[in-house]
Amino acid sequence: MLELEHLTLGYGERILLDNVSARFSAGQLVALLGRNGSGKSTLLRAVSGLGRILKGSIRLAGRELQTLPPDKLATIVATVTTERVRIANLYCEDVVALGRAPYTNWIGRMQAEDARIVARSLGLVGMGSFARKTMDQMSDGECQRVMIARALAQDTPIILLDEPTAFLDLPNRYELGALLRRLAHDEQKCILFSTHDLDIALTLCDAIALIDTPHLHVLPTAEMARSGHIERLFRNDSVSFDATTGTVRLKQ
Ligand code: ATP
Ligand code: MG
Repeated sequence: MLELEHLTLGYGERILLDNVSARFSAGQLVALLGRNGSGKSTLLRAVSGLGRILKGSIRLAGRELQTLPPDKLATIVATVTTERVRIANLYCEDVVALGRAPYTNWIGRMQAEDARIVARSLGLVGMGSFARKTMDQMSDGECQRVMIARALAQDTPIILLDEPTAFLDLPNRYELGALLRRLAHDEQKCILFSTHDLDIALTLCDAIALIDTPHLHVLPTAEMARSGHIERLFRNDSVSFDATTGTVRLKQ
């Protein structure tokens, strides 16, 4: 569904990912891990067609990204960022309806089918009763769900999320992770999300993609936990992390 082929990304002389290849399938929830500044957002931006590819290619649903016109790309990849939409007077259902833009006619008029998809998308994220609530009246967790509903309404096989659990408390982080897992499995989406929540990645994801500059390791979660990569990358002079038990230890 999503293939990186000998992909090199970076800015100017600085290479973040060098000649990386990986493949992600439909029905898979994948966490993208890496230290601050390792290139998670850069990779997600590149896959969503916004970044520059220095070498190699990205294939989406069998088509090369660079050959896809923007309107076609919008039917294959939906992106959710941490930017929070807080516009008073904008109903949740209006935000979700934005996801239908690639399909609505030139005046942007919604057909009955679009309205049905908007309602279904809100229902899938458990926000059906919020349709006529305005975006300024909601918590961060609720907003994040609405933004995911917008991505679902876009009806794409691939969904990318950049740190969707930032700003959420612990129960809501797990709830959001569980929602993404359910959507990947039940709706057969290929979902790739960046996160600093190692515990959520290790407990809820099917696979983990780990940026080990300038490499990208992609392994099923249990194998990644045993691989030692996470411990090596996420330790410093103050803390160490055990990926098999999910425990953090402070060094003396
Ligand atoms: P974080 O966990 O902090 O979100 P990240 O893994 O998402 O980090 P990126 O935002 O992809 O990291 O940035 C990777 C590196 O590239 C950083 O060192 C950043 O300063 C640099 N960078 C990001 N955007 C640009 C840009 N437009 N031009 C030049 N350098 C950039
Ligand atoms: Mg980032």
